[in-house]
Amino acid sequence: MAAQRQIGAMRLSRVEEMMIPLIEAGKMFAAFTPEHETVHKDWLSPTYFDPQSKRLNMSIHTWVLRTDHHTILIDTCFGNQRNRPGFRDGHQLDTPWLHNLAAAGVKREQVDFVLCTHLHIDHVGWNTIEENGRFVPTFPNARYLFSKADFDHYNAENEANPERPAQHGAFNDGVLPIVAAGKADMVGAEHAIDDNLLIRSAPGHTPGSITMQATSKGEQGLFTGDILHHPLQVWHPEWNSRFCVDPPAAAKSRRRVLEHCAEHHALMLPAHFAAPHCGYVHRQGDAFRFEFTR
Ligand SMILES: [Zn+2]
Repeated sequence: MAAQRQIGAMRLSRVEEMMIPLIEAGKMFAAFTPEHETVHKDWLSPTYFDPQSKRLNMSIHTWVLRTDHHTILIDTCFGNQRNRPGFRDGHQLDTPWLHNLAAAGVKREQVDFVLCTHLHIDHVGWNTIEENGRFVPTFPNARYLFSKADFDHYNAENEANPERPAQHGAFNDGVLPIVAAGKADMVGAEHAIDDNLLIRSAPGHTPGSITMQATSKGEQGLFTGDILHHPLQVWHPEWNSRFCVDPPAAAKSRRRVLEHCAEHHALMLPAHFAAPHCGYVHRQGDAFRFEFTR
């Protein structure tokens, strides 16, 4: 567990599922060249980039936000014991994520909201657990917030080709059981959980990617999901990942999110940055730089 942080009076913690050299930098970002290793040598290696394998080190984690009123989980990783033969990194995992959540002081019954910033395989896993051969909601008292645009997109993909289920089966076992249990709330372009928690659409990485802004006592945090996968994209906001479904829209949303963080001094809280996992964005010329929090 990382140290607990605050956003004003809100308590923020992080539950990690894994930290891995996930993918080669040049495969993730088409524009990445060896020169960028030099340009960014001050911060890049070895925390965020493995110089031997040339892979980007990435964390898979859940942010946990506790306000006076609510306990909210943002993104739920891969989940355990999922059969994902086509996706090695998420196949038959056995991680202590649920134990670590309990160690962070969160009982399953206490969770009020689960927010998936989008419906990719590494963001919906712990939505459910398997009980008696069925996938059921892990958090019995929670409302699960899904983007309607993402749900419609992956539902259509799932139905169009049952032989190749959406997100390697994660839509079937991490999303649909929540809908069947009547615990899903589909959110549109803008949705307020309460006065201090605002969800906005930021399409491009997926059709319905969303962010959540948390405001308390003059401080602000912005949960950005996979609008950025890696700190390199702060310096290079035009770099889309190979997983962005609509590259022009993704680049536009990324720039908008970075501008927002810079303008409001919002703590940016992405889903995959390595330690310290979050930070502040500052303008630098036509792009930005990242101030890693300590
Ligand atoms: Zn992701």
